[in-house]
Amino acid sequence: MYEIGIFNAKILTMDKDFSIINNGTILIKNGKIDKIVKSDLDLENFLVEKKIDATGKLIMPGLINVHTHSAMTIFRGFADDIALQEWLHKYIFPNEAKFIDKENVRLGTTLAVAEMLLSGTTTYNDMYFFVNEAAEVTQKMGMRALLSEGIIDYPTPCSANPELGIKNTEELLQQWQNNQLIKIAISAHSPYSCSSDLLKKVKKFSDKNNIKLHIHLAETRWEFDEIMRLYSQTPTEYLHHLGILDENMIAAHSVHLTDSDIDLFAKYKVGVAHNPECNMKLASGVAPIPKLLSRGVKVGIGTDGVASNNNLDLFQDVRSAAFLHKLSNSNPLVTNAKEMVYMATMGGASVLGFEKEIGSIEVGKNADLIIIDLMKPHLIPIYDIYSQIVFSMTGNDVETSIINGKIVMENRIIPNFSFTDLWLQMNELSQRIKKSEFINRYNF
Ligand SMILES: [Zn+2]
Repeated sequence: MYEIGIFNAKILTMDKDFSIINNGTILIKNGKIDKIVKSDLDLENFLVEKKIDATGKLIMPGLINVHTHSAMTIFRGFADDIALQEWLHKYIFPNEAKFIDKENVRLGTTLAVAEMLLSGTTTYNDMYFFVNEAAEVTQKMGMRALLSEGIIDYPTPCSANPELGIKNTEELLQQWQNNQLIKIAISAHSPYSCSSDLLKKVKKFSDKNNIKLHIHLAETRWEFDEIMRLYSQTPTEYLHHLGILDENMIAAHSVHLTDSDIDLFAKYKVGVAHNPECNMKLASGVAPIPKLLSRGVKVGIGTDGVASNNNLDLFQDVRSAAFLHKLSNSNPLVTNAKEMVYMATMGGASVLGFEKEIGSIEVGKNADLIIIDLMKPHLIPIYDIYSQIVFSMTGNDVETSIINGKIVMENRIIPNFSFTDLWLQMNELSQRIKKSEFINRYNF
């Protein structure tokens, strides 16, 4: 018995040959892609629990958001048009201290996961607080994630000191080991907010457990200059001298890289989480993505938290990335649509270390895929499907999302989910935050 059979499908596989099947069938069993047939298959010959007629629709791998802070949805639109350091220290950190607790992480993560499921993301990589709560919500909604607690030198909403953050990560690893959807990483917030001792401890923990180490790196000119002033090294050189660069590292942003930093990224197989919209909004700069790609560095695309984006629709970040690099290099040939789709699928899977399990539609991989209705004015006609995805689609075009072989969103509805309840709770919380924001804005 197959759980799901999708037939009459145009399938964008993102396999190593970039195969596209124009009228195929996908059969899903035990959460995995069990069969891909390159012609129309008579499903009557197979026992299939749920049949989906995909006539006029595109099936592609679910998108992978490689860097976000999901529960920050509670701060969407709360402090915009401000520079990063001021934004962090005057608005975000004080209000996180005040409002980020277990209950609000549940609420913010629920909103984030709902938004991602409705816009075609099937896996996300998160750095935030009260990770166990985020993990419970994510698993309940059927989403895949790599989660880590943001560890930093000073007290956070969930850990009075960084040692406690490491201890929490140890407990999370035990609690979620062997879980099909939730994996645990360790995070150090950044080179400027973690001491060298703490960075080394986090790396040691990553080595001991062979887990990913997620960090913000070389995000702003301010960070670059500050690390240079303190250590006479670029942020990347500084981490290299601490022995931190390796293939388990996920370096979010990676905007201010010298050519020799790029050499280090290539040599140590560091993964990059590119966040084009956040970098534009905070005017942090332009990450040298074409150079990184030409050196074979793994690159995925992330939204970052919605307080600096302000949504989790990864299709929009893919489009922004395409435009950003063409403009900043004064060269429309510097990237192409196929590379962008790769970054949002297989590239992201490689950055997270999940390339054998997700990122493409291939037999034996987990069934994480999305169905997009192509019968829409802005998606007609189709000459090149990659161009259509990058330049014309948005997350709103995603009709159905499947993760681990389960339908988690169908015809734009998330099963067993009350949007009204969520809206009411978020409204109440935002009224409280609004009052606090007013105080903050005028007390500093
Ligand atoms: Zn971030």
